[in-house]
Amino acid sequence: MPQYEYLILGGGMTADAAVHGIREVDRTSEIGVIAAEPHAPYARPPLSKALWKGAKPESVQLGTADLGVELHLGRNALELDTRGRRVTDDQRTTYAYGKLLLANGGTPRRLPFGDSIIYFRTVDDYQRLRSLADQKRRFAVIGGGFIGSEVAAALAMNQRQVTMVFPDAGIGSRIFPLDLAEFLNSYYREKGVEVLAGEHVAAVEARGVETAVITQSGRELMVDGVVAGLGIEPNVALAKAAGLRVGAGVVVDESLRTNDPHVFAAGDVAEFFNPALGKWMRVEHEDNANTMGRMAGRSMAGQAVRYDHLPSFYSDLFDLGYEAVGELDSRAEVVADWKERFREGVVYYLHDGRVRGALLWNVWGKVDAVRELIAKPGPFRSEDLKGLF
Ligand SMILES: Cc1cc2nc3c(=O)[nH]c(=O)nc-3n(C[C@H](O)[C@H](O)[C@H](O)COP(=O)(O)OP(=O)(O)OC[C@H]3O[C@@H](n4cnc5c(N)ncnc54)[C@H](O)[C@@H]3O)c2cc1C
Repeated sequence: MPQYEYLILGGGMTADAAVHGIREVDRTSEIGVIAAEPHAPYARPPLSKALWKGAKPESVQLGTADLGVELHLGRNALELDTRGRRVTDDQRTTYAYGKLLLANGGTPRRLPFGDSIIYFRTVDDYQRLRSLADQKRRFAVIGGGFIGSEVAAALAMNQRQVTMVFPDAGIGSRIFPLDLAEFLNSYYREKGVEVLAGEHVAAVEARGVETAVITQSGRELMVDGVVAGLGIEPNVALAKAAGLRVGAGVVVDESLRTNDPHVFAAGDVAEFFNPALGKWMRVEHEDNANTMGRMAGRSMAGQAVRYDHLPSFYSDLFDLGYEAVGELDSRAEVVADWKERFREGVVYYLHDGRVRGALLWNVWGKVDAVRELIAKPGPFRSEDLKGLF
């Protein structure tokens, strides 16, 4: 039976960061990684950005194996026995651990329309879409959030014909104020994307080599490929079955330990308390995966850590880009401070006079300054914020 002082379940960015964290403290003990995908850990953000702008496929590799780790790829962990400190995978291999990290992320939400839709998450999804886009022309993208907006832009920048379909009023409208989300609809249209906002998909049907996407209002789009970005569900089933505490994700304390002292969790799967916002959070972003993963590794290796980091995130939409920190909820009170409307500026999200989050729209290098602002009690009025950055 393979035995590891440190066993990591999941082979994503959090797993890679955790290996780095462990190795910063413990250079010699055995580390094992069980990963369902057949690939060593790689960076996901370039799959919907840089790889469509000429970056080489191998640039996504994180090089985890160089840190003296045994990677068990293409294996799905099925059982966790916290009493015996064992994990069993789908090939009936059982692994013993001293400390375990749950870094098993999330699974894309699906629609009940068969297998012709690419639920874009992995490098295999990228390769499937890329080879289709190399041969074919017409694509439908379902969803107007992070993945939908990035994939639509990537395809359009590669001269593909793209129709976006999503139920909200505008692109990114769960986090952007309505005027900005509506601006994005027209910006995407200017770039040649057909944007069907406020529209639901009623059916997706394979018709020979083509696919029909039928909307609730009766439009029928004939396309060569369909991609969906509908968010993810955290992979909590294993933790739940093992009796670990699960809320919106696998619940961890500030040292990133679950309610079992030998089991830790980090990244997209984990729920943690953020002191600056005073709330429990589960975050699906790179900065959280990297920072939390690294700290979880250090914590597993015996170093005292306190995860009080407020994660940031970013995205690129054609030639627009942003960074953001904190809670971005378009239903909150919003103060927009544009230097140039919808091109450069900062949008603040407030609750009871406190800044809860900020969107730095084509404004760079201000993430830490915003974190300091969020930590301040306020109260802030609109005139206190205008011109700050
Ligand atoms: C296309 C794309 C673009 C993105 N762009 C951005 C961006 O621009 N900015 C940003 O901040 N964030 C972005 N993100 C989000 C960011 O990449 C994720 O937050 C991060 O990758 C999460 O890492 P993770 O390791 O926690 O989880 P995951 O990436 O989900 O990795 C978990 C891994 O565990 C494996 N696994 C699951 N269950 C098991 C099991 N039972 N046994 C073995 N293995 C298992 C999965 O197969 C998976 O490989 C993007 C994500 C995607 C998909």
